[in-house]
Amino acid sequence: MTDGLTQFESSYLPLWQSGVLKARVEALEGLLERCTVCPLDCGNNRMNDELARCYSGRLPIVSSYTPHFGEEPPLTGTRGAGNIFFGNCNLRCVYCQNYQISQAHKEQIKNQITHDRLAEMMLELQARGCHNINFVSPTHFAPQMARAILIAAKQGLRLPIVYNTNSYDSVEVLKLLDGIVDVYLPDLKYAEDEAGFLYSKVRSYQDISRAALREIFRQTGHELLYEEGLLKRGLVIRLLVLPNDLGGLRESLQWISRELSPRVTVSLMAQYYPTNVAGTNPRYTLLSRRISESEWLRAVSLLDEFGMESGWMQEFDGAALYYRPNFDDSATPFRDVRDFNGEDSPTCTVDRSLPRLVGVL
Ligand code: SF4
Repeated sequence: MTDGLTQFESSYLPLWQSGVLKARVEALEGLLERCTVCPLDCGNNRMNDELARCYSGRLPIVSSYTPHFGEEPPLTGTRGAGNIFFGNCNLRCVYCQNYQISQAHKEQIKNQITHDRLAEMMLELQARGCHNINFVSPTHFAPQMARAILIAAKQGLRLPIVYNTNSYDSVEVLKLLDGIVDVYLPDLKYAEDEAGFLYSKVRSYQDISRAALREIFRQTGHELLYEEGLLKRGLVIRLLVLPNDLGGLRESLQWISRELSPRVTVSLMAQYYPTNVAGTNPRYTLLSRRISESEWLRAVSLLDEFGMESGWMQEFDGAALYYRPNFDDSATPFRDVRDFNGEDSPTCTVDRSLPRLVGVL
């Protein structure tokens, strides 16, 4: 491997060559006319730039695109994941670490770009040697993302596509993305609707996220496809441990293990810190601190309790230091994880107490 490209062929390439990708893009764009792109079903005509809950119209909004070294090890590799951060969001998480770009639509409108430009960004990340194209918060821009993949494929894009989502996704949209997306990287934020409403301002998070994960699992199964140590295809479910167990980790792991498979790969995250309004609004006092070490150890023990067989977890120390982006610097919103040395490093130390887990973020 010399140029970041390998023998692996992303499944969007045969879809493009057969004409299926174009038909899928058109079907996805059809959903913009009375917007049902996400389960909020706002019904606004985004093709006419009518805005609703996500403040996003016909064209994509990209707040930052950059090689990123803080994803799971086989996505980061040596040259980074090729992250493309979309602006705005369909959720309103009160603790969102990306709130500067997800909840500031008046600012973000200036980052609106054409589909051609989005395709160029993908090709630029490929030319810089990134191992994949990692779309962050893509749900509300799924049609625009697919259109840009079609354009970029014609111009030589070959990298796998990663769909890094909050899981408040429509099953209809996910079915249309089948074969366009290579790696799904969904969060499972809450086990209870009440928490989803209180902390992310959406209804029915449990049913909607679980339906989305069932559809993703139907597409991917539990197997991960690697090539030269890099993840090329499959499903990794992210579980962010919240203070006071507000996410309902036990219930979520039990559901994954029983309803999907204990062989599904999970990524357990210690990086929570109070940001956005979580640290200041007394309504969210239960979210106003980092997790304690005992909360983290309890979360880790649940992986064994439910027989989860593969995944990663972050180092407890260090995680909350690295994962504090500043999107005022859109070229490098995250500190380079390679700057962290020794004891402060949040990355890549195997935890011997959990030998069945293959690594640590
Ligand atoms: S994508 Fe945006 S406009 Fe469309 S249904 Fe979701 S929140 Fe509403």
